[in-house]
Amino acid sequence: MALSRSCLPHHRASPGERCGRTQKSPRCTDHEAAFQRWRNAQPGRRALYQGDWPAESRAIRRAHPYCSVCGRVDELTVDHPTRSVFCRTHHGELEARRRAEAKATRSS
Ligand SMILES: [Zn+2]
Ligand SMILES: [Zn+2]
Repeated sequence: MALSRSCLPHHRASPGERCGRTQKSPRCTDHEAAFQRWRNAQPGRRALYQGDWPAESRAIRRAHPYCSVCGRVDELTVDHPTRSVFCRTHHGELEARRRAEAKATRSS
């Protein structure tokens, strides 16, 4: 088991882009700070996690503890755009449909 690995400055960096410092975490302290800044600046992430989404999602699941489609009570996920509760299967289907629609909109 490797106790130390060489720093990969960015999660998409290729092995050739490693800065060469070795430590137990994926990135050296300098690059970890830069990576966190980069990640926090992503528009998608900011939009998704603005406000207190984890608390809101828990409150939604408490108020509606079953899938909106099939009524299952386990593996529940709150769909962020619609604030609806789905089981993993139905949330997966919804996401797949959204991706397909987004693709259709782009190509038309
Ligand atoms: Zn580094
Ligand atoms: Zn379901």
